[in-house]
Amino acid sequence: MFESLSERLESAFKQIKGEGRITELNVAATVKDIRRALVDADVNYKIAKEFTDKIKDKAMGEKVLTAVSPGQLMVKIVKDELAELMGGTEAELNAKGNPAVILIAGLQGSGKTTFSGKLANYLKSKKFSPLLVAADIYRPAAIDQLKVLGGQIGVEVFSEPENKDAVDIARKAVAQARTLNKNVVIIDTAGRLAVDEAMMTEVSNIKAAVNPQEILFVVDSMTGQDAVNTAKAFNDRLDFSGVVLTKLDGDTRGGAALSIKYTVNKPIKFISSGEKLDTLDVFYPERMAQRILG
Ligand code: GDP
Repeated sequence: MFESLSERLESAFKQIKGEGRITELNVAATVKDIRRALVDADVNYKIAKEFTDKIKDKAMGEKVLTAVSPGQLMVKIVKDELAELMGGTEAELNAKGNPAVILIAGLQGSGKTTFSGKLANYLKSKKFSPLLVAADIYRPAAIDQLKVLGGQIGVEVFSEPENKDAVDIARKAVAQARTLNKNVVIIDTAGRLAVDEAMMTEVSNIKAAVNPQEILFVVDSMTGQDAVNTAKAFNDRLDFSGVVLTKLDGDTRGGAALSIKYTVNKPIKFISSGEKLDTLDVFYPERMAQRILG
């Protein structure tokens, strides 16, 4: 994960690791290399600049500390700031309600349906009793896909293939969950290939109808800066509560993971790194920062 970013950061620290003390000059050189590494990883320039300015201030502010070497000090500062950039501490999923409703939104192909299955599996392992809802009225295959996933994990799937009203399906599903004593409803909504007014209106209407505890925006981390722009468009309309980054197993550069929280000020709650249903992870900013720095 993020191999090229990790490598570039490592080489950014190379020089300062050999230095005996922190100086304005060696900090400036390191910071410049870090900024370049971030921009190459698809982090927006403004974010990268603000990030490295902070690193510089911190490093210069701590130059009197002689207990640690300049290299260790820089690595520690960067690690702390990377974790901060990605949200600081982990953000909990709110699955409390009668039932709790979790709305899943995102572009087509981002991994919504797969994530819905993973989340249901995860919640089931936490002793919740989930109901999956197929609210994609445009692609019959999406209903089948969710049914297959539900079958694999032993979670019931609510669908009405003849019903062309996604809001009605969502409402009925919540009522059905109460009847079936399910305490969490996961609604997989329809996506489009690009941000589109009809899709936004539909998801907003579902939101208004079922008043979800969580709206999770699912985004393909491989799409770099597009991921961040899409997040902004969805957040402007939906005011979502958390982000799910998918396909972290692919050759992703890391820009989405590093920039989304900054851009929309919503936490990344889960990451997905594979098609198998057990590859869902709660997102821990500190662990991710640690992984990036190796
Ligand atoms: P949706 O259109 O948003 O519902 O997306 P899908 O859940 O159908 O996923 C689109 C494609 O991406 C499918 O082929 C999935 O198997 C695949 N996919 C989903 N999540 C991941 C992931 O974390 N890693 C990888 N490698 N593939 C994924």
